[in-house]
Amino acid sequence: MFTKILIANRGEIACRVIRTARRMGIRTVAVYSDADARALHVEMADEAVHIGPSPVTESYLLGNRIIEAALETGAQAIHPGYGFLSENPDFVDAVEAAGLTFIGPSGASIRAMGLKDAAKRLMEKAGVPVVPGYHGEDQGLVLLAGKAKEIGYPVLIKARAGGGGKGMRRVDSPDDFPEALAGARREAKAAFGDESVLVEKYVDKPRHIEVQVFGDNHGNAVHLFERDCSAQRRHQKVIEEAPAPGMTREMRAAMTAAAVKAAEAIKYSGAGTIEFIVDASDGLKADRFWFMEMNTRLQVEHPVTEMVTGIDLVEWQLRVAAGEALPKSQNQIALDGHAFEARIYAEDPGKGFLPATGTLHHLKFPPQDADLRVETGVRAGDAISPFYDPMIAKLVVHADSRTEALQALDNALAATEIAGSVTNIAFLAALARDADFAAGDVDTGLIGRKQDGLVQVPPPGAEAVAAAAREAAGIGTLPASGDPWASLPGYAHFHATPRRTRLKFGDTDISAHVSVVNGRWSVELDTPISPAPSPGGTPRVARWPGHITVFDGAAGYTFAVHDPLAQAADAAAGDSMRAPMPGLVKIVRAAAGDIVTKGQPLLVLEAMKMEHTIAASHDGVIADIVAEGMQVTDGAVLVRFVEADAA
Ligand code: ADP
Repeated sequence: MFTKILIANRGEIACRVIRTARRMGIRTVAVYSDADARALHVEMADEAVHIGPSPVTESYLLGNRIIEAALETGAQAIHPGYGFLSENPDFVDAVEAAGLTFIGPSGASIRAMGLKDAAKRLMEKAGVPVVPGYHGEDQGLVLLAGKAKEIGYPVLIKARAGGGGKGMRRVDSPDDFPEALAGARREAKAAFGDESVLVEKYVDKPRHIEVQVFGDNHGNAVHLFERDCSAQRRHQKVIEEAPAPGMTREMRAAMTAAAVKAAEAIKYSGAGTIEFIVDASDGLKADRFWFMEMNTRLQVEHPVTEMVTGIDLVEWQLRVAAGEALPKSQNQIALDGHAFEARIYAEDPGKGFLPATGTLHHLKFPPQDADLRVETGVRAGDAISPFYDPMIAKLVVHADSRTEALQALDNALAATEIAGSVTNIAFLAALARDADFAAGDVDTGLIGRKQDGLVQVPPPGAEAVAAAAREAAGIGTLPASGDPWASLPGYAHFHATPRRTRLKFGDTDISAHVSVVNGRWSVELDTPISPAPSPGGTPRVARWPGHITVFDGAAGYTFAVHDPLAQAADAAAGDSMRAPMPGLVKIVRAAAGDIVTKGQPLLVLEAMKMEHTIAASHDGVIADIVAEGMQVTDGAVLVRFVEADAA
C-alpha cells in the first residue's frame, strides 16, 4: 500500500479522500489555489502545496504543476477526485510517465469512454443496448437536422465531450433545431473546448438509473448495485438514492449484467459508473434501458452506494491502484436498507437557481453518525467564491426503508443552518416532501413540471419576524427557550419604553417595537404579518454583518438590518437591471433606443460555465446596455431603461 498520496482536487471530495487515507494510515498531500489558501482540505491534509492563482485553468487543471508537487513531496500516487483532471487521459499518461500511480482507470479506458459518441459505438459492439440516435463525425447543420428528423422529435442534442448536463438541449420541433444546436455548441465550446455533438432520441418519461462498477488489475469486475438519479433539474442531479424505487429482480439482473459487460469490454480498473436512461412510461421493464455513458471516476453521489453496501469506495480505489485484488467477490456484496443524498448548493431557487457567492457566516449541520453523513469542504466563515462549483455540502442519510430514509433526509435538511449565502435547502425539503417523489414515482421531468411549487417558500411567520426583531434589538439571547412565554410575540406585563428596530425582508420594510420587562421580551410589529405557525418549533437565529437569518423548519429567512445609505445608492441607479452574479456577458441582443417588452431576452450571461438568459424585467425603452465580452461583478448594472417620465 502507498504511504503517501496527493489529492489533485479541492472541496468536499478532497476532504472525503483524506479521511479514508488517514484511516488507512496513508499520509496526504493537498494542493491549493490562492482562493483556497485557508480551505478545509488544506487544513486536513498532512502537507499542502500551493499550485497557482484562483482560476482553475491556472491551478487545479495544471497537470504538470500537480505532478511536480507530488514528486517534490514524495507522494507515490495521485487521487484525482471528480471533475478537474479526473477524466483526462493525457494527465493519466503524464502521471505514469513520472513514475507515479494514478488512482483510477488507465488512460486507454478513459479514452475509450471519454467522448460520448465513441463510447456509444464501442458499447454497441459489446452488445450493450444504446440510445437510438446519430453519433457520427459529420457535424453539418443540414446533416444533423436531417438525422434529428429521421430519429423523430423530440430529440436531445448532446455535447460529445459533455458532462454535468452542459451543452445539452432538448428540441421538440425542427423549427427550434438550429437555435438549440447553436446554444449547445456555444456552451460545449466554453465548457469543454469541443463543440461536436450527437443527436439522440429523447426518451419518454425518462429515469436515470446508473450502476456502480469496480474492476481490478487481475481481471475481476463486479457491480455494487444501482443508484437512481432521476430527480434532476436541467439535467443536473439534485437528490440521488439507492436502490432505485420500484426496481424489479429481472431489471436489476439485466442492468447490472450489462454494466459489468461494459466494464469488462474495456478491461476497466477502479471505480466507474455506467449511466443508463430508462423508459419508465410503463413501469420498469428489463428491455427498456439504454447505455448513455460511462463515468470513469468516483461519482459525486458515491456515498449512497457506500451507505447501502457498507463498502468504502475510496478504500477500494486505493487498494486496486496499489495492485491488490478487489476485496470482495460479487456474492459477498449485499444491499442493506435505503440511502439518499441531497446536494446543498449556494443558489437561489426563487431566481431561476442562479448560483450565488458569499461568505458562510453561519454554518451548522446535524450531528453525524453511522446513518447520517455530511460531506463538505467548508467551515463557518469560508467563502463560496465564483471560481468553483457552488456546492456547499452533501447530506447523506441511511435507514432500513425508503420511507424512513426520506424522513431522515427531511429532518437533516431542517437541522441544517446556513447564513451568508442563499441556498437550495428549502427547495430540497419541498422535493423530499413531494407526494410523487415520496411514492418513488420520479422521472427526470418531475422537478421541471413542479418547479413553481417547489421553489415557493412561504413568507416568514410572525414568530420568525419577532425572532429577527428581538435579535436586531440586541435581546436575542433573552430569555431561555424553556420559558413558556418566550415564543409568544406580544406578551408583556406592562409597557416599558420600547426600542424601535427596522428590518427589511426582500422589498418589505418591517418596523417593530421591542421591549424587555422582568427579563421577558415583547415585540409589537407595525407591519402586518400573517401569524403563520412555525413549522420547526422555535425559530433559530443567526446574526451576520448587516443581516439576521432566522431558520424555521427547512426555510431560512434573511432580514437586512435597516441601512439608509445603501437605499440611497440604490435609488441613484434609477430604473435598471443588475447582474444577479459575477459573469461574462456572452451575447447582447438589444441596443440603446430599443423598445422592449417584458420577458424579452436581452443578453446572455455566462457564469460557472453555464449560460443564463437575462430577460427584460418590464416593458420599456433601453437607455444603456452592457457590451458583449464584458466581465461584470455581482450587482453591476447591465441594462438601464429610459425613465418612464422622460420617455
Ligand atoms: P452529462 O454527461 O452532461 O451529465 P448525460 O448523457 O449523463 O450528460 O445526461 C444527463 C441527463 O440528461 C440524464 O441523466 C438524463 O436525465 C438526461 N438525458 C440524457 N439522455 C437522454 C435521452 N436520450 N432522453 C431523455 N433524457 C436524457
